[in-house]
Amino acid sequence: MGFIVKHADCVPIFLFDPKHDVVGLVHSGLRGAIQKVGLMAIMKMISEFGSDPKEILVGLGPGIQKCCYKKHIEILSQLPDWSNCIDTENNSIDLPGYIEAMFCEVGILKRHIENSGVCTSCSQNFHSWTRQRDQNEPKGNGVSIIVLKQNMYD
Ligand SMILES: [Zn+2]
Repeated sequence: MGFIVKHADCVPIFLFDPKHDVVGLVHSGLRGAIQKVGLMAIMKMISEFGSDPKEILVGLGPGIQKCCYKKHIEILSQLPDWSNCIDTENNSIDLPGYIEAMFCEVGILKRHIENSGVCTSCSQNFHSWTRQRDQNEPKGNGVSIIVLKQNMYD
């Protein structure tokens, strides 16, 4: 079982249920976060594989962080569940923070969520759609991969 997603500022979400040997990988930008695509993947893990949210491990890979995410604030400020993720002082949005809070609400343990905190826009190690737009960098993408090695824990 393995998956691959492309992204450039959107957050790759790695999901792993070690008890049932299930992995998932989700591309979640702002639209995906509003539509709660990460939760859709969790629901699928529960319904199809019997996963328990308390046992699912989550990794949030490099994506745009609140230091650089300064778009769509007016729209998001109208959505009540985003209020804790909008920094009105710095006029910025904490997209990975929103995703993390969303997972905690459905029973994923905070200690099971590893947020890389790496900003694709600040770091030259990753492609960034924001940097591409603002600094006229060449087009590109980041890639995330998750693979479940069969019988890894036997
Ligand atoms: Zn940044």
